Order: sequence, then C-alpha cells, then structure tokens
Amino acid sequence: MITVKDIRQTSLSDKLVFGHMSVFDHEQVVFCNDNATGLKAIIAIHNTVLGPALGGTRMWAYKSESEALTDVLRLSRGMSYKSSCAGINLGGGKAVIIGDAKTQKSEALLRRFGKFVDSLAGKYITAEDVNMSTRDMEYIHMETDFVTGLPESMGGGGDPSPVTAYGVYLGMKASAKEKWGSDSLSGKKVAVQGVGHVGENLVRHLVKDGCKVTICDMNEEKVKMLVSELKVEAVALDKIYDVPMDIYAPCALGATVNTETLARLGCSIICGAANNQLADEVIHGEEVKKKGILYAPDYVVNAGGIINVYYELEGYHRERAMSHAEKIYQTTLNVFQIAKTQNIPTYAAANHLGEARIAEIGKIKLSF
Ligand code: NAD
Repeated sequence: MITVKDIRQTSLSDKLVFGHMSVFDHEQVVFCNDNATGLKAIIAIHNTVLGPALGGTRMWAYKSESEALTDVLRLSRGMSYKSSCAGINLGGGKAVIIGDAKTQKSEALLRRFGKFVDSLAGKYITAEDVNMSTRDMEYIHMETDFVTGLPESMGGGGDPSPVTAYGVYLGMKASAKEKWGSDSLSGKKVAVQGVGHVGENLVRHLVKDGCKVTICDMNEEKVKMLVSELKVEAVALDKIYDVPMDIYAPCALGATVNTETLARLGCSIICGAANNQLADEVIHGEEVKKKGILYAPDYVVNAGGIINVYYELEGYHRERAMSHAEKIYQTTLNVFQIAKTQNIPTYAAANHLGEARIAEIGKIKLSF
C-alpha cells in the first residue's frame, strides 16, 4: 500500500504521461481508479477529428503502469489510422483495464468502468477486445450506451468476422494485382495461420477461388473439420512458416512477421487479419521491403470489423457494411501506389494515408 508520505517522496518520472502523449499527439488520456472494485483502467483518445474515438477495451496483467500506458497509446493511434484509411467517420481510441482477467474481473468492476466510459459523453465508444467477452460488454452496457459490437439480440451487428474476412480477401486480391498484374488468386498457394472466426471465412473465399490452401490451428477439431469439408492441407503450428507458399495469411496472433520467421517465409505477399503483424513496424517493415515481399498493412485489410461497427452506430445493415468493405480493394492499391511513389515501406505508406485524411478533414472542420 502506497502512503501519502511515499507519494511525496517519489518523484514521478517527469515526462511520463505528457512525454508519451506528445509522441503521437494524443488528445486526451483518462486514468480511471476505483478502490472499491479494484478498477485500474486507462482510456486513450488519440484523435477525434473524424468522429468519436472508437476502439475496444482489453484486460491484461501488465507488468507495469508504463507498459499499460504505452500499449493503450499505441493501440489508440492504430485505431485512428484504421478508421481514417477505411473512410469512415470515427476517431481512434482504446482502453486497457489493468489486471488478470481470470481472477480480477467482476460485474462491479466492469460496471464501474462503464460509468467512466459514460462520463466521456460519447467522445469515446468502446467495444470488445482481448480478454473481454460479450457478457462483459453487457455489464458495461448497463452503465453506458457508448458500447458497440453487441450481439444481434441487443440491437448490435453481431459477429463482424465475415465482413473482416471479406475485406482481407479483397486486400489479398489487390496484393495479387500489384505483385502479379492480375487479381486472380486461382492456383495460388496460401498458408493461413489460425482458422478461427476470420481465418475460417477467409479460407472459404480462397477455396472457392481455386487456391491451394494450407492451414494450421491449435484447435484440432476445427482443423479436422475444414480438411474434411474443404480438402485443404493442414500442418503443425510451427511448420506453417516453412510450407511452399505464394501468400502468408496470419489470422491468429500479432508479431509473427519477425526476424526469425522472415528467414523461413518463402512468400511473395503477406496479407492477413491479425493485428500488429510486424513485430517491429520499422525494422520488419523495412526488412519485408528489402526481401521483395509485398506486405498488405494489417489495419488496412482487416478494417471490415470497424466498418461493421460503424454501420451498427448508424442503424445496422449487413449489406451496407459489406458494400463499404469492398472499398478495401482500392484502398490497398492506393497504399501500394504511395509506397512506390515515395519509395517507402507499405506500413509507412498506410500511416501517411491515415494521417492525410485526418489532416484534410481537420481543415474543413476549422472553417466554421
Ligand atoms: P479467433 O480467436 O476466433 O481465432 C483465432 C484462431 O487462431 C483460433 O482458432 C486459435 O485457436 C488460433 N491460434 C491461436 N494461436 C495460434 C497459433 N500459434 N498458431 C495457429 N493458430 C493459432 O479470432 P478472430 O476473430 O478470427 O481474429 C483473428 C485475428 O484477426 C486476431 O488477431 C484479431 O485481433 C484480428 N482481427 C479480427 C477481427 C474480427 O472481426 N474478428 C477484426 C480485425 C482484426
């Protein structure tokens, strides 16, 4: 237990919060504390030029408060760029609840968090993220209307994964067009890591197009089912990087494009649903470019989920969400064009595209 005396004697690293915030120009960071429920959360609002800051809440046992702050700032900036590139009117935000989801999560803690979200009066809208369930979102929703990604039974848009998978599939077709001059995927060898909600839907699109698909997943039942139904190949988890492939599609975890896997991956294109695929954006973004691999930036091609949520806010129509997701094809091509023209890695081109729309729309808002 820290005492008042301890606090007086501790000189908090001077620029911890504002220093961090100024790196990516964050607008607002809200620290939420409640001793009664044990809630310790941080809500980061990166940018609201395009609209309210939307991004999920994740619960994680961070090793330090500084690690939690870094994570929420990085993730909220990613949300600004994702929505901006997707052409929707949402800003970027994210929230982290510090703690072990297995032992520290409770109805009271989640509802207290909901009250903090509500206190922002719609400037931040939350959604489900790592270690949060639909039930948890229902608790948060008891205290605030600023929640999205709710089940259809609660007026939400339901599972966004089919929209996400469709966007990734279109991003992959755009990548094929850029790399091989045709967007046909027929006959291409695609290695899909993770056949969960998004991965399975993606595999179905690819099989329909005549791709030779190899999958892996720790869910053996699911693998067995897809092998039997779709006649795809399956390999052990760690073998996925070594199979003959034209396209690597990470649909499970982040950071799987790293120095170790890049020495093994024999692909021409990387395009998948997972967030933060590059272990280090700068180092591995450059390395991928040097190797001549075309990387379709994750947040550009996996924007189907946020697009789905956007249409949930407007009164949900799956057709409108799917139709908006079709724009991912052209956006992916635009990113490649910027990368070529400026001779920069594709991740940097996507960041430029995201920043440019925010800057442009910022101008029209100032003119009133
Ligand atoms: P999911 O949990 O339904 O599926 C992930 C799958 O990956 C599971 O089947 C799991 O068993 C498998 N997996 C875990 N570790 C693995 C490993 N080491 N090797 C192989 N498989 C492994 O998740 P999802 O909704 O399909 O999302 C997949 C990825 O896409 C996640 O990174 C998610 O953050 C990202 N994403 C999802 C959406 C969406 O709409 N669901 C939107 C944007 C981004």
